Amino acid sequence: MASFLSLSPPSLLSTSAPCLSPAKTPFLHPVDRNPTRKYHQRVQISKFPCSFLDLEPKSKPEPLDFDVPWFHPADGRRFDVIVIGAGPAGLRLAEQVSGHGIKVCCLDPSPLSMWPNNYGVWIDEFESLGLEDCLDKTWPMTCVFINDRKIKYLDRAYGRVSRKELKLKLLSNCAANGVKFHKAKVGKVEHEEFESSIACDDGTELKASLIVDASGFRSSFVEYDKPRNPGYQIAHGILAEVDQHPYDLDKMVLMDWRDSHLGNEPYLRASNSRLPTFMYAMPFDSNLVFLEETSLVSRPLLSYTEIKQRMVARLRQLGIRVRTVIEDEKCLIPMGGPLPRIPQSMIAIGGNSGIVHPSTGYTVAQTMAVAPVVAEAIAECLGSTRMIRGSHLYRRAWNALWPVEKRWCREFYNFGMETLLKLDLNGTRSFFDAFFELNPHLWQGFLSARLSYGELIMLGISLFGRASNPSRLDMLTKCPAPLVQMVGNIALETI
Ligand SMILES: Cc1cc2nc3c(=O)[nH]c(=O)nc-3n(C[C@H](O)[C@H](O)[C@H](O)COP(=O)(O)OP(=O)(O)OC[C@H]3O[C@@H](n4cnc5c(N)ncnc54)[C@H](O)[C@@H]3O)c2cc1C
Repeated sequence: MASFLSLSPPSLLSTSAPCLSPAKTPFLHPVDRNPTRKYHQRVQISKFPCSFLDLEPKSKPEPLDFDVPWFHPADGRRFDVIVIGAGPAGLRLAEQVSGHGIKVCCLDPSPLSMWPNNYGVWIDEFESLGLEDCLDKTWPMTCVFINDRKIKYLDRAYGRVSRKELKLKLLSNCAANGVKFHKAKVGKVEHEEFESSIACDDGTELKASLIVDASGFRSSFVEYDKPRNPGYQIAHGILAEVDQHPYDLDKMVLMDWRDSHLGNEPYLRASNSRLPTFMYAMPFDSNLVFLEETSLVSRPLLSYTEIKQRMVARLRQLGIRVRTVIEDEKCLIPMGGPLPRIPQSMIAIGGNSGIVHPSTGYTVAQTMAVAPVVAEAIAECLGSTRMIRGSHLYRRAWNALWPVEKRWCREFYNFGMETLLKLDLNGTRSFFDAFFELNPHLWQGFLSARLSYGELIMLGISLFGRASNPSRLDMLTKCPAPLVQMVGNIALETI
């Protein structure tokens, strides 16, 4: 944290001298719906730390107290399916495949650790999967601050995933279905025609008909046959106890694109105008809030240090004085780019499978939804008396994960990402201003990656129709190259 300040550009160091005392600081009161209201700013030197970055997170996550069935070598080293990773994707797939009576082993260096990330989902997504009991906080509405004068209220409920409840639910279903767990890191995977084997860092070697890689974004097991050129979502988030905050308690703040906090920061303001970041905020109560300064997508990657600098300036302007940082997170999500080679001898699920929404970075709900479909395809092969293995099994599993129309849709979401990459702050604001005016079926379906390809084309046309003239000009001048790329990739997928 100290190094952050030493790296600060002169503008930040010079302006950050006085902390605004929240008691005297201008900010939007939770019930104040009028962001145009003018406030008189009074500056006071606070006796509290100037930046939340100086605070160490208080929470030390405890492992879950749950008794899983552990792997014992004496029980045999061969399984039908081995799942690498006990994150949301690995456990969901292990749960679903084992539900078909298939013998599964799941490996992770720490299978009972709490997942580190804060996950947000749309409530309708989790309700449709019967997972609504795994949310620890819900908001009936969401809102988007387009700029200092305009807020959009969205009639769609949002929730924070209870990592503990979701993990316990998946673990207990896995345990009930007989999944074995092994605490180790997989180092090497080898494939033969009908069987694959893994070697772990503790010396354990196991074999299976199918290996599923659910080891997250950093996976080195999945292969690509096209050059990778992802965009990156990068964000700094804190769960914090604060004196007060300006956000309405019944609304989750999906995006706050205001930039008035950078008024005295010429360097940050100019850079934010080119490569904008927004605040994502989950207000739990008037003193507890999750705040995340987020770059929706950048390529090359926006500097993490700068994101934290922008967040310091934003919180100061909003009068949010952090008393305690309970948790912090660095979010770095590769988005878009080509899919892994399809098919290949191991199947992927979750962060490394291409399922990350290329325009939003959302992954969890889609992973929870697709795992049963993939599990069914695996069960049709391995669960049948015919024991379909090898290349037929791999192809069936990959096609269940990525049927052709879903690959086309993903090209459209990639197109969305490439477009967002080209927009500056004003372009981004105009884009979302028009986007959230679309028919809710379209914008909600886009964010949840559940539109058909035809609906996505309709969305594109409607968006163009609703966009402001400058935004249309942006689309006409900046979209042709990504559009041609999308059409070319779809043609290749279709051949
Ligand atoms: C900070 C952050 C916030 C996010 N917030 C959201 C959000 O709000 N909503 C949303 O939808 N998505 C979100 N995402 C994106 C995505 O949902 C998460 O990254 C999610 O954790 C991906 O799940 P996963 O199971 O694929 O991978 P991970 O959660 O990364 O789990 C991978 C597991 O594999 C294990 N592993 C790794 N290597 C090996 C190995 N060699 N052998 C054995 N085990 C191994 C790891 O220990 C880990 O337990 C977020 C991502 C980040 C980084």
